[in-house]
Amino acid sequence: MNSPHHGTGGVLVATALRTEAGEIPAPAALLLAGDLRRRGLPVRTGPLHLDEHARHATIDRGALGAAGLGVAAPPDDPVALAAAEQVLAEWSAVAGPRSILLASPRSFCAGVERAIEIVERTLETRTNPVYVRKQIVHNTYVVEDLAARGAIFVDELDEVPDGSTVVFSAHGVSPAVRTEATQRGLEVIDGTCPLVTKVHAEARRYAARGDTIVLIGHAGHEEVEGTLGEAPEATILVETPEDVVGLDLADPARVSYLTQTTLAIDETAEVVEALRTKFPLLHEPPSDDICYATTNRQNSLKAVIDESDLVLVVGSTNSSNSVRLVELSRRNGTPAQLIDRVGDIRAEWLAGVRVLGLTAGASAPPALVEEVVTALGGLGEITRTEREVTRETVHFGLPAAVRRGVES
Ligand code: SF4
Repeated sequence: MNSPHHGTGGVLVATALRTEAGEIPAPAALLLAGDLRRRGLPVRTGPLHLDEHARHATIDRGALGAAGLGVAAPPDDPVALAAAEQVLAEWSAVAGPRSILLASPRSFCAGVERAIEIVERTLETRTNPVYVRKQIVHNTYVVEDLAARGAIFVDELDEVPDGSTVVFSAHGVSPAVRTEATQRGLEVIDGTCPLVTKVHAEARRYAARGDTIVLIGHAGHEEVEGTLGEAPEATILVETPEDVVGLDLADPARVSYLTQTTLAIDETAEVVEALRTKFPLLHEPPSDDICYATTNRQNSLKAVIDESDLVLVVGSTNSSNSVRLVELSRRNGTPAQLIDRVGDIRAEWLAGVRVLGLTAGASAPPALVEEVVTALGGLGEITRTEREVTRETVHFGLPAAVRRGVES
């Protein structure tokens, strides 16, 4: 028989412990719930009444008072019971006071905010379905949220009915995609980040003057595909200094380079150096193509790496700038993990971690970072420090079709 408090269907993870004397908050609930879900168990969250079926622990949080950890599994489900016991033991073992160093700037950049607002406003003002080609920004949470509000995400334009409205993602598209959209009579709302558009314009300019363009970037990334499409005959993609060594160009005096906007600054500098060595007459772009947001997030992370026992980066696995942050930390000798949501954090990562560096890629919502801080606050007293290396004031205006707020 299940306890009347615990219901049926999987493990209940406590968001609060209820006792005769009152309620103890359990902010680490999402950590335990994520762990149980990874073990394949159905999980519910809610207040847990402390009776004979409840397993729980209380955590000292200093001035904030006690926090609880609690789970209850159906008494007739030995697998769930064992998992609940294990999860409670593992998370109790990594409880304790911690410092969290928050790298700043982090989370949304101006290009991502603009792209999301474009989809939101388009959804508000169009009566017909709104399609979005590719993920508007590379973040699972953002895409799920916009999909729940009505946006229809597709991979290619052939999934969009003729005459419909389609939003292009922040990563940009190749001219071939624009042409196809025009031919199909689609209403196009362009969410391309203006800093990606700048790189496209450079590609056209360099190709027009007869240069071979060496594009530094990651094969298969949407932004790279879009930029390559501007001058496919004239552009060669490289990723590493080794790729540069093997380049054999017809006219080494007419070579330009461009980069993807979200690369690692230090690694890209090595590729550029290799290009300068191989092509002494190399034409350089007037300003760096690695965008301000990518640069700032890497620099702010550098300000916390050395002091941190572990770095957590909030971001999705397909987010280039988020993955670069993880690599940056690891290259500098600090373990780092990429998490989409707080539930991805594993107890074993936190063992022995007293100082935790926390940041987020440019496509990850700030609220997800706060969710992590709150959940970790359920494991002990938290000292929170913001490490701000610069303040961002960049803002991009919306496209005219969206500003007008009417169907065009
Ligand atoms: S990361 Fe940079 S290029 Fe990408 S959307 Fe943000 S500002 Fe634009």
